[in-house]
Amino acid sequence: MSISSRANSLSPSLTLSIDSKAKAMKAEGIDVCGFAAGEPDFDTPDHIKAAAIDALNKGFTKYTPSSGIPELRQAIAEKLATDNHIEYKPSQIIVSTGAKQSCFNAILATCEPGDEVLIPSPYWLSYPEMVRIAGADPIFVQTREQNGWKMTAEEFENAMTPRTKMVILNTPGNPTGSVYTKEELEKIVEVAAEEDILILADEIYEKLVYDDTTHVSVASLSDEAYKLTITVNGFSKAYAMTGWRLGYLGAPEPIAKAIDSIQSHTTSNPCSFAQYGGLAALRGDQQPVADMRDEFDVRRGYMFDRLSGISNITAVKPLGAFYILANISRLSLTSQNFADRLLSKPNVAVFPGAAFGDDRTIRLSYAASLDVIKKGMDRFEDFCRTL
Ligand code: PMP
Repeated sequence: MSISSRANSLSPSLTLSIDSKAKAMKAEGIDVCGFAAGEPDFDTPDHIKAAAIDALNKGFTKYTPSSGIPELRQAIAEKLATDNHIEYKPSQIIVSTGAKQSCFNAILATCEPGDEVLIPSPYWLSYPEMVRIAGADPIFVQTREQNGWKMTAEEFENAMTPRTKMVILNTPGNPTGSVYTKEELEKIVEVAAEEDILILADEIYEKLVYDDTTHVSVASLSDEAYKLTITVNGFSKAYAMTGWRLGYLGAPEPIAKAIDSIQSHTTSNPCSFAQYGGLAALRGDQQPVADMRDEFDVRRGYMFDRLSGISNITAVKPLGAFYILANISRLSLTSQNFADRLLSKPNVAVFPGAAFGDDRTIRLSYAASLDVIKKGMDRFEDFCRTL
């Protein structure tokens, strides 16, 4: 059977093997402590569910405009203006079946064979594959632990070539938990603007920032930033709505139009009644978002303190998202080996950093209850002592 070169260019998911092994172990009744989750462990707030149920009961069960229902595009435009200080018209907003689809659409609409897309590494594992599907080349910019795993403007500039079309900025970041400051972003935008390089700003974790950190949206920084940036966001992380498959982007008008066209010929519209849930999420009570953030913050503090007490591991305290990237390079094990052994004996699931482009690291997610985190960290600490 002949498989397309596009499909053949994709890497097998390294995270999948850990995931399926952990699930199989749980099904056998083994008490696995899961630190591998990429989604909040909370349920979607009730008022959001009620809005979707109401929409179903009212018969909103048909196709919608491919870019989303007008009320939701309007609500998103207002949210981006109020929270993020970015002025988009509703026509510049495209609602999708998740921020993942928004990222993919943005890349597909702007990049082509011969183009290079710069990706700060460690990175969210889907970015390079999306770039490859578009026929372009992912180019990784290695970031440093000492710099909080953030790409500097200088590192960005050094990685640029005449073929560079786009740079991806994910703040707050997965798997690093790092958050770029306004000044850092301004310097990066300055470099991008010199060569008209597009910026894909994936801001899906914006509501999950800690201490006195503020999230800064790239497109809000200047007119130049606005013209170059595609802003991606969604409902999955802030409102615990991963299964709803609902996300969105805001972009300069011609890019939004191209994306609308791509979406209309691929997935058509995002789920009709999920969009009413999204509308309730944006228009309704924001207290559940703050409560979930506070709970994540407690877990972050606990997990980080426990990691800091382990002598052969280092980690930067994350300021956002719900991940800690731990450096295991002193242990002379590959990240896959570490993750496999940790899962099979003390039964703790983490993701190997090789999946995110850095084999010296593992990613621990604190989207788990504090009880599970306490038990898992006891096991983790004992395991590291034996290495
Ligand atoms: N971007 C990043 C950085 C993510 O971590 C994720 C989810 N793992 C997504 C986008 C996709 O989110 P969604 O569920 O909205 O597709």
